[in-house]
Amino acid sequence: MKSLAVLGSTGSIGTQTLDIVRKNSEKLKVKLLGASKLSRRLFEQIKEFEPDYVYLARKEEIKGVKVLFGEEGLKEIADIDIDLFINGIAGIAGIKPTYLLLRNDKKLATANKESIICLGEVLKEKYSEIFPIDSEHSAIFQSLQAGKKEDVKRIILTASGGPFWGRKNFDDITVDEALKHPRWKMGKKVSVDSATLMNKGLEIIEAHYLFDIPYTKIDAVIHPQSIVHGLVEFKDGSIISQLSCPDMKIPISYAISYPERWETGVKRFNLFEIGKLEFFEPDEKKFPLLKLAKECGKKGGFYPTVLTVADELAVEMFLKGYIKFTEIPQIVERILEIADFKKPENYEDVIFIIEETKRIFKNFYKTVGGKIA
Ligand code: MN
Repeated sequence: MKSLAVLGSTGSIGTQTLDIVRKNSEKLKVKLLGASKLSRRLFEQIKEFEPDYVYLARKEEIKGVKVLFGEEGLKEIADIDIDLFINGIAGIAGIKPTYLLLRNDKKLATANKESIICLGEVLKEKYSEIFPIDSEHSAIFQSLQAGKKEDVKRIILTASGGPFWGRKNFDDITVDEALKHPRWKMGKKVSVDSATLMNKGLEIIEAHYLFDIPYTKIDAVIHPQSIVHGLVEFKDGSIISQLSCPDMKIPISYAISYPERWETGVKRFNLFEIGKLEFFEPDEKKFPLLKLAKECGKKGGFYPTVLTVADELAVEMFLKGYIKFTEIPQIVERILEIADFKKPENYEDVIFIIEETKRIFKNFYKTVGGKIA
């Protein structure tokens, strides 16, 4: 029996993780569920999975279960004896749990790319122990097992291209349109990031830190079918890849079952139905955030963190209707021009950069009165 902690249990990754637990109840036991607040969904999950612990961002009472909360609660979580912690928290809120868990040498499977990126400069040496849940990184992780790390020539991340790949005019894009991802069922933040291609930019940085591979050896390609999730080219000219129907249950399940493979119930692969696989070069003029992310990654230091935070805040403003879709890259670029920090050397430095970037962002928006460009 493997015990699990599911952080972000009511979100997209969390609920799909619990689907896997349901399917494998003889092998898995949920010991902890974590969410930002008590909701009906969380209540139902507690009833169904009967965890020993529940984590909430703020204090609340729940009958019959030990509730941990706030900063202190997070520290306590990182001390609990659990076989695998799953970080399915969306956005920069996932950074602290990743830090505390890795610091305590806990086994971690994470879908939270923000934490991998922002802690990259200060915690990279612990990253070889992480099981990636992000589908592209899971594919790379699986493909890397076919050879030696020193024989890797290049890794390639695939991107579906999002809903606007073929679109000409970006001026009138609505929130609903940006949330309609053609292939994947995901949370709001990731859906908008996929529409701007920022998601791929962040994933390039994520791959750099996670697999300790230089940026010159990481490429991204548009692959509208979302069947090939990632590729590794070895020096003999072979490319090894992982292919499947686009469903997060596969990478989540593999992170839990590794090195075994379990039934996931995901639709079986029909080559004739798929017919063809296409690959295109990304258009960085149309999707400036992809280029910006690559530049930030190469610069290193505080840049990846500022980029991550500025993008999260910009996406939030877009979702609330305060800014246009085309203003997301504009505001992120402006924040990167203003921000200036020393290279982060520890966790506290990273948190400082995050908080300062939030402040810079708010000030900037106030000063320009909403007129970004
Ligand atoms: Mn991904």
